[in-house]
Amino acid sequence: MTKRREKSAAVQCRPGCAACCIAPSISSSIPGMPQGKPAGMPCAQLTAENRCELFGLPQRPAVCLSLQPHPDMCGENAAEALARLAELERLTRPGAEKGRGNPAPAR
Ligand code: SF4
Ligand code: SF4
Repeated sequence: MTKRREKSAAVQCRPGCAACCIAPSISSSIPGMPQGKPAGMPCAQLTAENRCELFGLPQRPAVCLSLQPHPDMCGENAAEALARLAELERLTRPGAEKGRGNPAPAR
């Protein structure tokens, strides 16, 4: 039990993963994306190395600052994280249950 807690606490962001900068939608304005970021689209602030150009700068959106790595979200690799975040986005999207704005089959 103690070991599990230690494992959770030790989760750190994987350099170069960027799944949470691609899969989720972000409703707040981001430099280069004034209307926010649609789900599945890489953030305009991602560098070629999948790092945040705004890291440590005041322009970085508050939602990005508040997001913490978690094993349930990050998985074992970037592909797993992308799949988990895409599913979370689908489940939490307004109107998702009615299929509004969803061109792909819901199930
Ligand atoms: S999904 Fe997790 S590991 Fe990947 S960039 Fe986000 S916080 Fe980091
Ligand atoms: S602003 Fe930075 S942390 Fe936030 S989604 Fe864009 S690249 Fe990721």
